[in-house]
Amino acid sequence: MKSIWFLFFCPLVPLAVGHAVPSTINAPKSPQPRAFPARFDIRSSGQYMMVNCGSHRGPQLDSLLQNLWRSLLPVIQDAQLSNPSPAFKAFFKDSSNAPFVAEVLTNVTTGVARHPSAFPYTNGSPTFLCPTAVGQFPTSIAGRQIDMYTHCLQSETPVATYGNPLPYIFLCPKFWTSPYANLPPQNSCLSVNTYINRFRGNGQTLHAFKVWILLEEIVHYYIHASSKPSLEPEVYDVNKAFRLRADQAVGNGNSYAYYAASKPSASVNANTTDANGQSSGVYGNCKDFPSPPDKGREILETADPDNPSDGGPHIPGPAGVMDGVTDVQIGGLNHT
Ligand SMILES: [Zn+2]
Repeated sequence: MKSIWFLFFCPLVPLAVGHAVPSTINAPKSPQPRAFPARFDIRSSGQYMMVNCGSHRGPQLDSLLQNLWRSLLPVIQDAQLSNPSPAFKAFFKDSSNAPFVAEVLTNVTTGVARHPSAFPYTNGSPTFLCPTAVGQFPTSIAGRQIDMYTHCLQSETPVATYGNPLPYIFLCPKFWTSPYANLPPQNSCLSVNTYINRFRGNGQTLHAFKVWILLEEIVHYYIHASSKPSLEPEVYDVNKAFRLRADQAVGNGNSYAYYAASKPSASVNANTTDANGQSSGVYGNCKDFPSPPDKGREILETADPDNPSDGGPHIPGPAGVMDGVTDVQIGGLNHT
């Protein structure tokens, strides 16, 4: 998907007046130069950019991204196998879409740009914007103006939001203050109720960690930039994700997080810990999955992913997408 970008630079000085003001007339008040907005704190993490995330959150985000990239390496290896893991088959079914899944996850590790650069605030790679006050990131959505910090304060708002189709991922202050842990505990997995052939719960005990929230948001960026359609509406519940067809699953951001979170990762060093002392090596290693429909065992419930009553209440996950974003103003630069 291509976007057309225009940059509008606020002038540092008022435009020169083309003629002298006659001395007999009260001279109009000279227009004050528009103050050039203070440049935001801008950092990078590999190819990724982080705007206004600050000297405290910026390094934390960098650390999370590095954990994410490391954790994805064995997952990408798995997706490239001719006979991938049960985790792959659970969430992406057959191997026909494995090259696409491997490509998306590889893109996440490299941060390759799929959007044009808009200097100085994005190089076109996924770019994190951290709103911390009103007025920093006025955003247009389908002709409506919203302030992203104000939006962040709404209680039902996800902690992170991908601004489709631009390259921006907004990280609300509550991304940091939320109870979501940075990384999952070692070998965190879902259990399966074999009697009804379903995962227990809605999947959030597997998914709701900052590292997977970031993965889902970045995956949205790469799906939207690809030729594959995004699944609308997105499916959050893990049992609904399990029931998606292969062609639906590759367009569902959550499916990548469920796969990565439950994939065996034996080749990663289990003794690695991050700065917070949490294991940064082993996620998943899950062995318990419902029997796939092609093995003659259907999930007992109806297979309608749009039906909120199917598998419990439809509770959106902590990672969101905002569709129809046409413009984000960043420090006076107008991205249209
Ligand atoms: Zn999503």
